[in-house]
Amino acid sequence: MKKILMLLIIVLAFIACDDKGKDDKCTCDPKEHYLPCTCNGTDCTCAVIPRGFITDKAGNQIPIYQTVGVSDADAITASTNIATAYNDPATKQHENIISGKITKILILAEDECSFDKNTGILEIGIDWCTNVDDLTDIFAYVVVPALSE
Ligand SMILES: [Zn+2]
Ligand SMILES: [Zn+2]
Repeated sequence: MKKILMLLIIVLAFIACDDKGKDDKCTCDPKEHYLPCTCNGTDCTCAVIPRGFITDKAGNQIPIYQTVGVSDADAITASTNIATAYNDPATKQHENIISGKITKILILAEDECSFDKNTGILEIGIDWCTNVDDLTDIFAYVVVPALSE
């Protein structure tokens, strides 16, 4: 019992210490980033902004976000190519299935791609984003099958 109490005190001490170190002010200018803010300010109100958008058939704006490890230049190219692929006839033929189902697209540094039909999040590895045909394949062979299950 004493041991448990001691452990609890140590844990609480750590939590208290952690809180003290967090009274930094946000020094960001501008207060919006393509990647999550790293200022650690307790007053931070920074927003993460998308690299681009896709507009689906239902009129929804689907944001395309860069993630950590992806360069700015690659993210810009990827965002353009993803939008081009979405508007390509190869993807448009599936639009009745896809429209309204994707909520967010994340450009990943890793080379995997996946679609979660419950959250609507489509993750695409940067290696897939250099070629529009590869991206139309992702809509046709990753997103559509997931929604048709
Ligand atoms: Zn910031
Ligand atoms: Zn900040």
